[in-house]
Amino acid sequence: MAKPLVLCSNDDGIDSPHLLALADLIAAFAEVVVVAPERQRSAASHAITLHKPLRLTERAPGRYSLSGTPVDCVYVGVIKLCGGRKPDVVVSGVNDGYNLGSDVFYSGTVAAAVEGALRGAAGIALSMNPRATDPAHAIAFGASVVRAAIAEPVPGTVLNVNMPGVTTDAYEWTTLGRRYYEDDVAERLDPRGRPYYWVGGGPTGHAEIAGTDCVAIHRGHNSITPMHLDLNDRPRITTPPWALEGFRVIVSPT
Ligand code: MN
Repeated sequence: MAKPLVLCSNDDGIDSPHLLALADLIAAFAEVVVVAPERQRSAASHAITLHKPLRLTERAPGRYSLSGTPVDCVYVGVIKLCGGRKPDVVVSGVNDGYNLGSDVFYSGTVAAAVEGALRGAAGIALSMNPRATDPAHAIAFGASVVRAAIAEPVPGTVLNVNMPGVTTDAYEWTTLGRRYYEDDVAERLDPRGRPYYWVGGGPTGHAEIAGTDCVAIHRGHNSITPMHLDLNDRPRITTPPWALEGFRVIVSPT
């Protein structure tokens, strides 16, 4: 039987040491294709490049960089670089920084994993404390999640994994929590005297909601959050919040 196939990507770029360390560990039990942005593309979310050419560079056998976003990488990787096979897993990371709570909406790391899931693979996002004291331990945990997802696939779910980067064997299954940020927009003047803005303040803490990713990480545990991609609010369809005056609602059979 052919070895399972794992596509590795990230949003920190092809030169991220965590990406290559992860790919090396996964290569022990799977065939690995790496395709990652040629430069840092964090917070790219699910952007794709529609109006510019994408250039692919083979850095080493099976290791590619692309002049696009993380999602471009998975898109091109799955269709062009997997030799006609469908990858069993698309894993994204290990990101240099957490993706907790609402971070998942901004994250290029998570988006690459979501793109993998939309294309029929198991999608796994791996993110780590930027001040990890034992990054190798965290990367090994991430690889073990990939291995488990190959052995027993969890269809229809993206796994959002965060790791405190400390020496621990503990992990929790969690929900997305709530992380707080300084809602900062800095205003400065450029050298020509015109104002410019810089968005995004630093994290300031999290809500103490039991069972969440934020709390697990705060306790020094690894966190695995299974996420559905089905965004439908079904109860709202069967029980709509209001009727529009002057318009006629048609109720479709469900
Ligand atoms: Mn990143």
